[in-house]
Amino acid sequence: MAKLNRRNFLTAFTSGVVGLGLSKNIKGRTRNAGSASGGLSSIKIQKYNDLGKTGIKVPDVSCGAISFFEPNVLRYAYDLGVTYFDTAESYMRSKSESFIGDALKDIRDKVTITTKHGLNAKVKRDEIIKRVEASLQRMKSDYVDIAMVHGVSDLALLDNEEIQAAYAQLKKDGKVRFTGFSTHNAKLTLKQALESDFASVILVIYNHDEGKEIEPLIEQVRQKGIGTVAMKVFAGGKHGNLKSLISQEVSYPQAALRWVLSNSNIDTCIPTMSSYSHVEEYVGTSGKPLNRADLKVIAEYQRQTKDQYCRVSCQECLASCPQNVAINDVLRYKMYFEDYRREKDAMQYYSELEDSKKPLNCASCSGICETACKYNLKVKEKLIHAHKILSA
Ligand code: SF4
Ligand code: SF4
Repeated sequence: MAKLNRRNFLTAFTSGVVGLGLSKNIKGRTRNAGSASGGLSSIKIQKYNDLGKTGIKVPDVSCGAISFFEPNVLRYAYDLGVTYFDTAESYMRSKSESFIGDALKDIRDKVTITTKHGLNAKVKRDEIIKRVEASLQRMKSDYVDIAMVHGVSDLALLDNEEIQAAYAQLKKDGKVRFTGFSTHNAKLTLKQALESDFASVILVIYNHDEGKEIEPLIEQVRQKGIGTVAMKVFAGGKHGNLKSLISQEVSYPQAALRWVLSNSNIDTCIPTMSSYSHVEEYVGTSGKPLNRADLKVIAEYQRQTKDQYCRVSCQECLASCPQNVAINDVLRYKMYFEDYRREKDAMQYYSELEDSKKPLNCASCSGICETACKYNLKVKEKLIHAHKILSA
């Protein structure tokens, strides 16, 4: 490999060159990955934080297991000091949980695992218990550290007696240590979390574009002792399609991660680590302060993407649609399909959406939603395209 200076080293990170080279050495091995990588041995988690009041220590940079190609990548993350792993029943149609089990079963007591289950108001206690037990089986573990209710938009759902009874039983049986929720509607749910005892840990969207507004709430829930985990840290996930950013001194993902970590009320974040190069690139930001070069890259990313993607936590245009289309959900699935490359998951989620919320009549509409979008997105065009790719 050609000698790497700082500039092309980071470029190599972004393009995956470094990681792909290393993967040949790492497969089937665990520790001492650094020795195979020469100068890369210094890449290690530098900072661990308290996860709220749970008593669990977590690295500032953790592992999102939303998509990946082999368990060894997760094991490599552990080798570099990552001890918190986030999965969900729905990720890769449950295969993510199986990969977690395969990768971490012999070091189970050294890692913290969160999994998530999407629930609705009609769910029964026994069904929840069965689904959590099935997750445990896939994860090859007797317990999960944090069981979250997935994608909660209103915490009133968690007042449901069946849900309360299920998680109380799972805790009593030692199958769940802590409960929490993930949300795309933090403006409401974090406020509600201040009055509720359900969540020991929360998972929220927090990035340089969708973060400022909820910072006071994040601070309050953190003060209450709730652990805070940031997701969707790469605003819109567009960097893979913005080749011009690759030539920057700093990689966009590293800049975006440092922006998130500069908030001391965030305990950890979960960028998806689906390759060895992701692991190295993201872990490389641990413990490092946000700097001017990061802010420059973020500003350039914002310049190129500002009217390109739907802010997942934004709902501003929803009321304007006479057809009641779930605009932000549909555009989120489009993001999963095109930017996260999770085509099958995205199509599955879209197929579960009620037809009445799909953009089936947009072609004959004047596009009122576009006037309501403060980011000037070509919403109608994007929705029509989303329907085409997600229902192909
Ligand atoms: S274009 Fe579609 S989403 Fe937008 S207002 Fe019309 S029907 Fe609703
Ligand atoms: S389309 Fe625009 S206004 Fe509507 S949810 Fe997305 S970002 Fe918000």
